[in-house]
Amino acid sequence: MIELVFATNNENKIKEINALLTNSIKLLSLKDIGCYEDIPETADTIEGNAILKAKYVYEKYGYNCFADDTGLEIKSLNGEPGVYSARYAGEEKNADKNMDKVLQKLTHYSDRTAHFKTVVALVINSKITTFEGIIEGKITKEKHGKDGFGYDPIFKPNGYEITFAEMPLSEKNNISHRGRAVKKLIHFLNSKK
Ligand code: IMP
Repeated sequence: MIELVFATNNENKIKEINALLTNSIKLLSLKDIGCYEDIPETADTIEGNAILKAKYVYEKYGYNCFADDTGLEIKSLNGEPGVYSARYAGEEKNADKNMDKVLQKLTHYSDRTAHFKTVVALVINSKITTFEGIIEGKITKEKHGKDGFGYDPIFKPNGYEITFAEMPLSEKNNISHRGRAVKKLIHFLNSKK
């Protein structure tokens, strides 16, 4: 049995991944290992932050661990908001203000191409492996839909006429950046037994 920490405080993410793992992997939360601190996210790339979080837990608590980090990268804005997606319009991390800032900045651009990127970093016995998930799409001109979170109301994935915020969660999870990265992680873990 492999014990593995998922460096997140989001119980939903833990449940989701637990349901996909085989019995040989026991998933632990930060709470389970007595970690109640704010893990630093000070790298300047999405991949760097995922690695930083996973290594922090591995080095300080001695558990094998994985962590995820996500950002929205917009082509016309040279990849902004990217690693700063959560706090694009300020430290309060307000999703509406973040979206307003994106819509405002894109007013004068015709190219509204963007993608979400998730990187999952896994540390097992000090060896780091990363898994990337990307979903390509476009930024809409206005917000549409009430579901989801973050930038979902202004992101329309390629091949769809609706935004992430207008989609049932199961459909979003199936095609999303996070879903794609997590599927690669699970495949790797399940093949390791
Ligand atoms: P995190 O790394 O999962 O905490 O994501 C960082 C930020 O990216 C969030 O605060 C959101 O603003 C944005 N974000 C991450 N995932 C999604 C998503 O699935 N939809 C919309 N926005 C997202």
